[in-house]
Amino acid sequence: MPLTDDKHDSGILVASPSKSTKTNCWSCGEMRAAHFCQTCGKVQPPAPVDYFAFFGLPYHLNLDGPQLEREFYSLSRHLHPDVNAVRTPQEQEWSLQQSSSLNDAYRTLKDPIARTEYLLRLQGVHLEEQSTAATEEARRSGKAKKQVVPPDLLEEVFELNMQLEEARMNKKMGEPDRSLERELHDQKKHLQEKQDGLMQDLHRAWNDWDAVIDSTDSALEDDRGAVLQRMMDVLNQRAYVRNLLRDIDEVLE
Ligand SMILES: [Zn+2]
Repeated sequence: MPLTDDKHDSGILVASPSKSTKTNCWSCGEMRAAHFCQTCGKVQPPAPVDYFAFFGLPYHLNLDGPQLEREFYSLSRHLHPDVNAVRTPQEQEWSLQQSSSLNDAYRTLKDPIARTEYLLRLQGVHLEEQSTAATEEARRSGKAKKQVVPPDLLEEVFELNMQLEEARMNKKMGEPDRSLERELHDQKKHLQEKQDGLMQDLHRAWNDWDAVIDSTDSALEDDRGAVLQRMMDVLNQRAYVRNLLRDIDEVLE
C-alpha cells in the first residue's frame, strides 16, 4: 500500500494494513483522511494504530526517507494545535494527541535502528535488555550488565575485556601502557569495521523482510521467523559492539 498519491496535502487516507476502513468526517460527513478531513480540514479523533499505519505505510523496512519527511511536514501543518487554535477544546485535544503520535511515529520510523526494533516489537520479538537505561543503571550500581554476549563475539570479547581491565587499572595508577593502548586502538578499528558489516547484514535482512511482506507465496511466508531472528541477532550484536566501542573510548580518553 503506497502512500496516497494525492498531489496535495494528503492527511493519509484511512487504510491500515490490517483493515481498510472508510470513515466519515465527524463534522461535515465527507469521506475523510485518517488524521484530518480532506474536505473541511477538521482534525479527526485519533485512531489506535501503529506507526507504520499512522503514515499509511506497509510494514517495509526499506523506506523512502525524503517522502516520509514530506508526509511528516504535511501532516504537521494540519495537525499542529496552533492551526486548530480557534476550534473546540475537543478538537484541541485530538490535535495534541495526533501531533504527539505523529512526532513519535516519525522519530521512530526515520531512524533505521529504531525502525527495525519497532517492527520486531510489533512482531512480538523482544530484544535483549541492552538499552541505554539498563547500561546506565549497571554503571551506577556497579553491577555487571545483564547482557548476553552474542555467540559470534564470545572469543574476541573475552580477550578485549581482559585488555580493558588492564588498561583501566593502568589508568587508575597513572601508568599508561603504550603498546596496550595501541592494541586497543586496533581493536577499535576492527570493531568499527564489524559495525559496518553488521549494518550491511541488516540491510540484507531488510530486503528479505520486505520480500516476505510483499509475497503471497507461502514458501516465503515460512521465512518470516528466520528473518526476524536474523535481524534480532544483528541488533543484539550491534548494541554489544557499540558498548565495547564506548568502553574502549573511555579507557583511551
Ligand atoms: Zn469534514
